[in-house]
Amino acid sequence: MLQQTQVATVIDYYNRWMQKWPTLQALAQASLEEVNELWAGLGYYSRGKRLQEAARKVVSELAGRMPRTAEDLQKLLPGVGRYTAGAIASISYGQATGVVDGNVIRVLCRLRCIGADSSSPAVIDHLWDMANALVDRSRPGDFNQALMELGATVCVPKAPLCGECPVKQHCRARRRVEKELASASQKLFGKHAPVVDVEDCGAGGCRLCPPVTEPWDSSLGVTNFPRKAAKKQPRVAQTATCVLERRGCHGALEFLLVQRPSSGLLAGLWEFPSVPLAQDLQEEKQREALADHLQAWLGRPVPAEGLRLIGEVVHIFSHIHQTYVVYSLPLDGDLTLDAASSPLRWVTEEEFHASAVSTAMKKVLKACEKQRGKESSSGQGSKRKRGTKTQGVSSTGSGTQLSLRAFLQAPTAS
Ligand code: SF4
Repeated sequence: MLQQTQVATVIDYYNRWMQKWPTLQALAQASLEEVNELWAGLGYYSRGKRLQEAARKVVSELAGRMPRTAEDLQKLLPGVGRYTAGAIASISYGQATGVVDGNVIRVLCRLRCIGADSSSPAVIDHLWDMANALVDRSRPGDFNQALMELGATVCVPKAPLCGECPVKQHCRARRRVEKELASASQKLFGKHAPVVDVEDCGAGGCRLCPPVTEPWDSSLGVTNFPRKAAKKQPRVAQTATCVLERRGCHGALEFLLVQRPSSGLLAGLWEFPSVPLAQDLQEEKQREALADHLQAWLGRPVPAEGLRLIGEVVHIFSHIHQTYVVYSLPLDGDLTLDAASSPLRWVTEEEFHASAVSTAMKKVLKACEKQRGKESSSGQGSKRKRGTKTQGVSSTGSGTQLSLRAFLQAPTAS
C-alpha cells in the first residue's frame, strides 16, 4: 500500500484491510471485487490485485507457508519486486539482505557522490551492491528501516539536515560542499590553487560520476545528488464518458456502471460507460463515438444529440494525463440492457460510493451533481435549455426527461 502512497493516506486503508482479512487464508478467499472495493481511491489498483493473488498462491500452492528469502519471495509471489522481497526477508525473517527504495537511493547517492542518472541500470545495480554490503548482519531489519528512515526524516530531498545527520562524517556530498566553499573563499582572496576533487573517478567514462556536461551547481549543495534523467512526459489521453441516469423502483436516482476488463489499467473496476477518443476530435464526432458505444448496452441506436455535455474532468494517473469529456443521459421506464459484452449494474449514489470505482469516476459523478445543482438553482431556464439540446427527439409531457421509447427512437434525418 505504501508504494507511491503516503503513510497518512494509507493508515485507514490498512486498518480496514487488516480488519477484513487478518490472515493470508482470509485474503486468499476474497474476490477481486471485494479487494477493489476496499482499495477504491488508493490508486495503483494492480497492487491490491497482486496482493490477493499472492495470498492465494501461498495458500493453494505453497501449503500456507510464506517464502522466507528475498530470492524466493521475488520468484514465487506475484507483485513482489526486489525492494518488497528485501524488506519482507530482512524485517520479517531476519535475512541479511539490503533494500533500495527512493529514500535509500538518495542517502547512498549523497554518501558516495553518485551523480549519474540514479534510475540507470548501472547506478541501480551499484546501489543494490552497496545496500547488500552495508546491511548489518545481526539486525538487518532494523538497519534497513533505519536507512530508509534516515532518508525520510534527515536526508530529505530539498533541505537535508546535514548538521544533525548521524553519518555526516562519512558523507562525500557534504565533504564536496565544504571543498567548494574552501575553493570559493580562496578565489575571493586571490589564491588560484584549484581544488582537485579526490572523490571523482576521473574525467569521462565513469558510469557513476556526474556527466561532464552537467557540472556541480554550488547553489544546490548536497542536493546535487541524486540526479535523475528528465521525467518522461505523461501520455495525453481523452475519453468520452456518459452518466446514464434513471429513477429506480423506490424513486431514487440510479446510475449505470459497467465493469472494466480484468487486466490493464484499473482492472476489474466499475465505471460509467466510456470510450477512448482520438485527439482533437470535434464535439460532434465525440458525441457520435459515445452514442455508438452506448448502443452496445442499450441495444438500440442512440441519437448523439440526446447526450447532454456536462464538461471536462481531468485526472492524472502516474503515466497518463487523462481528460474525461462527461456527458449525461437521463432515461426512464424499464430497460433491457445487453450484459453480454460486459458486466453492468444500476447503482444508487450510496452504492456507487461503496463500489469499486476509481477516484476519476467519483470526480465525474461530482461534475454531474454540480451541474444538476446549478440547474435546479437556476430553475426553469435550465430545463428549457435541456429541451433545446435534445432536439429531434420527442419528449415526455413534463419536458424534463425523455421517455425511454421516445429516446430510443432513431433520429429523423434532417
Ligand atoms: Fe544526507 Fe547530509 Fe547526511 Fe550526507 S550529511 S547523508 S547529505 S543528511
